[in-house]
Amino acid sequence: MRIIFIGPPGAGKGTQAEKIIAKYKPAHLSTGDMLRAARDAKTKIGLEAEKYMSGGQLVPDDVIIGIISDRLQEPDCQAGYLLDGFPRTIAQAETLDKMLAGKGTPLDVVLELRVPDEELFRRLAGRGRADDKPEVIRERLVAYNNQTSPLIDYYSKQDLLKTIDGLGSVDEIFARVEKILDHFN
Ligand code: AMP
Repeated sequence: MRIIFIGPPGAGKGTQAEKIIAKYKPAHLSTGDMLRAARDAKTKIGLEAEKYMSGGQLVPDDVIIGIISDRLQEPDCQAGYLLDGFPRTIAQAETLDKMLAGKGTPLDVVLELRVPDEELFRRLAGRGRADDKPEVIRERLVAYNNQTSPLIDYYSKQDLLKTIDGLGSVDEIFARVEKILDHFN
């Protein structure tokens, strides 16, 4: 199963991703987690990425594409993966399409977790991560609305998009996810 998981910061993507991994066992490819690990290890890429992450901006496409294309070659990805937080721009999506077409391994589905902005802000304010300060949250939502939300149209045109209502309990939302993913299992 090859899945992309899209949603604004605070939509509950991380929580649902964990439940998807536990049930369907795809490799979990979170570019945010990879960047935070690189930052904590103080690698060159990590220190460069931190300049953008701390302000709520997206890390440049070439940096992210380098990371993800290496990761997709690894053995655990051959049986399937959940891309969590990637792609975040049309340029990333187009590059991914080319990589997958070259390998003959197209995507199965793109899940979009949808939550209204007011609710996102409320949830993020209570989370306490370093990039969850109000002004950074605002920047991250701006980045999502300007750079990432165009992907919804992009994948809808490819007939891959499934939108999930992100309001409700964790279990209610996961039941909506399962209804879609059970088809691809
Ligand atoms: P996340 O944990 O997915 O919210 O990512 C945290 C931060 O890492 C984002 O605010 C961006 O600065 C950066 N980041 C993660 N994934 C990407 C991506 N695909 N493209 C650009 N920046 C990214």
